[in-house]
Parts: sequence; structure tokens; C-alpha cells
Amino acid sequence: MTNCIFCKIIEKQLPSDLIHEDDKIIVFKDIRPKAKVHLLIVPKEHIKSLAETNTKHATLLAHMLLALPELAKAQGLAHGFRTVINTGVEGGQEIDHIHFHLLGGGILPKM
Ligand code: 5GP
Ligand code: ZN
Repeated sequence: MTNCIFCKIIEKQLPSDLIHEDDKIIVFKDIRPKAKVHLLIVPKEHIKSLAETNTKHATLLAHMLLALPELAKAQGLAHGFRTVINTGVEGGQEIDHIHFHLLGGGILPKM
């Protein structure tokens, strides 16, 4: 999508601190980390938010979800991690391209 920052990162038109890439997803460091480790798991397909997903996205969403424990392990998050999916304006979503946040490294504040 033309004006989407994450699509531009996927297309390598914008730089990112890349952690992982495969045929379905790209994972890079959040530019304004809210924890010692803060990664963004982003599908290559432009989907606006979790609210726009349906059963057609089941394989992709499972792939994103299953990437989390592997990424956490690779990042040394042996004692746990947090996953956040902000959805829509009231959910605090800033970038309208669905993404999972992976946060960890030290004890995170209670929600
Ligand atoms: P949201 O609020 O949409 O769930 O999260 C968007 C996240 O993307 C924010 O944590 C923000 O810091 C991050 N972000 C925004 N622009 C960029 C960027 O250009 N590069 C990277 N790596 N992260 C970004
Ligand atoms: Zn996009």
C-alpha cells in the first residue's frame, strides 16, 4: 500500500533493524522501544488491523503467533514476554498495518 510505513519497510524502501524475514512475515525492532526487547511482527500482506481479519487469514495469523515463542527464545527472553495487538483508534493503533508487539527483558509493569 502506497503510503504505509510498514509496507515501505517490507519493500526495503525504508530502513529497519531487521531480525527475521520469511515468505509471510518480517520482524524488526520498534523504533521507540517500550521495553529492553521490543519487536514488531508484521505480515507482508497489507491488512489494516486485527478487526479486518477472518478465517482466510488463519494460516497467516497462526504463523505470526507461532513466531513469538521462537523470537522470544532467540532474544533470550527465557522468563516470559508480552504480546500486544493494538487495534483501531480506541485501541491505540498508530500504524494501520496489522502487527504484533513482542516485549520483554525484565519485569514489565502490570496491565
Ligand atoms: P501501534 O501503536 O500501531 O500498535 O504500534 C506502532 C509501533 O510502530 C509503535 O510502537 C512505533 O514506535 C513503531 N514505529 C512507528 N514508525 C516506525 C518506523 O518507521 N520504524 C520502526 N521500526 N518502528 C516504527
Ligand atoms: Zn502496509
